[in-house]
Amino acid sequence: MGLESCHDLKSKADLIIYNAKIYSPDSVAVGVNCIAVSEGKIIGLGTDAEIRSRYWAPENINASGSVVYPGFTDAHSHFTGFALSLRYADLTQAHSFDEVLDILQGYRKLHPEGWIAGRGWDQNNWPEKVFPDNKLLNTLFPDVPIVLTRVDGHAVLASDAAIKASGITNTGKKGEAVIKNGEFTGIFLEEMADKLRNAIPALSISERTDLLIVATKLCHEAGLTAVTDAGINKSDILLIDSLQKAGVIALRVDAWLSPNEENYDYFMKDTIYHTPFLRVGAIKMYADGALGSRGACLLNPYLDDPHNQGILTTSPEELAAVCQRAYQHGFQINTHAIGDSAVRMVLHTYAKFLKPDDDRRWRIEHAQVVNENDFEMFGKYHIIPSVQATHATSDMDWARHRLGYERVKNAYAYNRLLQQNGWLPNGTDFPIEGIQPLNTFYAAVARKNVYAEPYEGYMMENALSRIDALKSITCWAAKASFTEKERGSIGVGMMADFTILNADILKIAEAKMLNTKVLYTIVDGKIVYKSK
Ligand SMILES: [Zn+2]
Repeated sequence: MGLESCHDLKSKADLIIYNAKIYSPDSVAVGVNCIAVSEGKIIGLGTDAEIRSRYWAPENINASGSVVYPGFTDAHSHFTGFALSLRYADLTQAHSFDEVLDILQGYRKLHPEGWIAGRGWDQNNWPEKVFPDNKLLNTLFPDVPIVLTRVDGHAVLASDAAIKASGITNTGKKGEAVIKNGEFTGIFLEEMADKLRNAIPALSISERTDLLIVATKLCHEAGLTAVTDAGINKSDILLIDSLQKAGVIALRVDAWLSPNEENYDYFMKDTIYHTPFLRVGAIKMYADGALGSRGACLLNPYLDDPHNQGILTTSPEELAAVCQRAYQHGFQINTHAIGDSAVRMVLHTYAKFLKPDDDRRWRIEHAQVVNENDFEMFGKYHIIPSVQATHATSDMDWARHRLGYERVKNAYAYNRLLQQNGWLPNGTDFPIEGIQPLNTFYAAVARKNVYAEPYEGYMMENALSRIDALKSITCWAAKASFTEKERGSIGVGMMADFTILNADILKIAEAKMLNTKVLYTIVDGKIVYKSK
């Protein structure tokens, strides 16, 4: 009786989180330790006493002093690619080509039929540090089509059977097929690599659905409430949309179109397609390859390959044509550019369209190597550098060999890039890196890998402050997809997406950051992950 009458005086919420420390990096929430949530939105914020005198809820979380952050967002990732990669042979831990072969033999026992697809090999982790060829693949797996994608996604090693199945007979664009003694070695880059991958038979809708569900679960465990799908097609977007609407996937997705007419016809309308869980308002372009496979387009040759400057994969004219359509339809253009030549080309192409007061948030993905003279163009035209803090710590051992001492000083220059617009989004590019946003935070702040190396941090002048690093995976990541009014910070009316950690990552000792645990992940006011 007492309880009922008490409820009569209070409004019903769906969930109350109390006894919490609450961070909303966008606005200081002093004296707030309780959140009330209803229908997926935050309806009350205040002290425990205030909120619990106004609301009651069937579900309550006693945070016991742990810390509630806005749900973590990955501002550049490949959600569908990650899901599909869960079916691939994982080659990321191979420390030699022999180990790659061992992993493939193990994989073959589990999947005895059909193609073998693998991903994650990196010759920089092997003793020889040179591209492999396909001779041993052809000998050990005769007639099996095999396509193994390099860690950066920009190169593949393919068996002869896969080359035959893909229909490739000529060498494509200059530098995209590695030839020895007049024959393919099995290494293909960029568009040729895509051709090989596209030849792999597609999975069924139900297989894809199962993988998307597993991928969502892994994202929730890592504390992610929102991710990006950086360059996908209509059919993949519609599948995600249907699974979100059916309540099967509780993960916000910012989907960027791969540039093709079918995608434009369906999605480039007068208004941006935008549900509470999905936004389709950007086109993904590629200006060059990656540094690891020496495909990044540089203004001057690679230090460790003096006849090579990398490849521009899209001409300025092609990019401009897509920019024109994007500008007309209010779409973002998010272009992958890693080398300083590619970054310069994209900056200048964007600048032809952008007007001084525009708020178009056109982005350069990675912006890894920037020429000294080009930094200020980001600020001048409000072009957004979209960075991945773990790339710096993954590449630090070899980047200077590719670039040399002078150029590497302007690489992975995240703090300097942040200064251009005063904000910047951060992500992982998963599955190229692991999915953990806490590793992104740590790499941005400490500039160290997960082994806490190097001891003094890598080029610390480009570390981000802790608050900036937190913003880069919450409110600034949301801003980078025009969703900052609905998510990315904690305020009344915002979506109820939270990541609850066992530690205050803005205050704990740096060495403890790597041991921080996700206690709860909450999306749309529902607990989607709870640690055991
Ligand atoms: Zn990417």
